[in-house]
Amino acid sequence: MSKPASAARTVECYHCRHRFTVSWQTMTTSCPKCARGLNVEDIVIKVAYAVRKIQTCGKLVVEKKGRVSAHSIEAHGGIDVEGTLEANVVSRGHVRIGPKATWKGDLAAPTLLVELGGQIARGYFAIEPQPVEPIPDSANGAEAEPPPPTPPEPPSMPGAKPRRRVTPQARPRSQGPDTSGPPRSR
Ligand SMILES: [Zn+2]
Repeated sequence: MSKPASAARTVECYHCRHRFTVSWQTMTTSCPKCARGLNVEDIVIKVAYAVRKIQTCGKLVVEKKGRVSAHSIEAHGGIDVEGTLEANVVSRGHVRIGPKATWKGDLAAPTLLVELGGQIARGYFAIEPQPVEPIPDSANGAEAEPPPPTPPEPPSMPGAKPRRRVTPQARPRSQGPDTSGPPRSR
């Protein structure tokens, strides 16, 4: 099944988060907003591969004999590991760690499946719907949670006026040889 040549897909620039459409056949392009180069194809690792950084708007697949070692990986289309992956990873799509896969490193992704037998050697995992910072340009930016309702204040006693007891106050006795008393006549 081949996709029609005219079909377009939406990708997101991993430099500036700008979203735009490319055709299905596009493998690399440059962002119309920040003009930096973008990898939009799926990356398939079949052999040992060491690199500093992998970024793609597509998917990352590490096959059974594939072994990828990178400092950081960002894949918007998701990640599928059957071999070995060692990196700190941000995925915008589903991540699957296969039954013979070995994973080493942090992961932020919306969803994760670890097949029975898949090994996670180390890593801090953040599996949540929005692993990356919210997109500033998105139209539905107003997803902020409503503030929790503040509990009503306990009613203060109705009609309780601040009451001050008025008492005739005794004059403070002065203890010193000062001027408070009437001047003594000599
Ligand atoms: Zn950009």
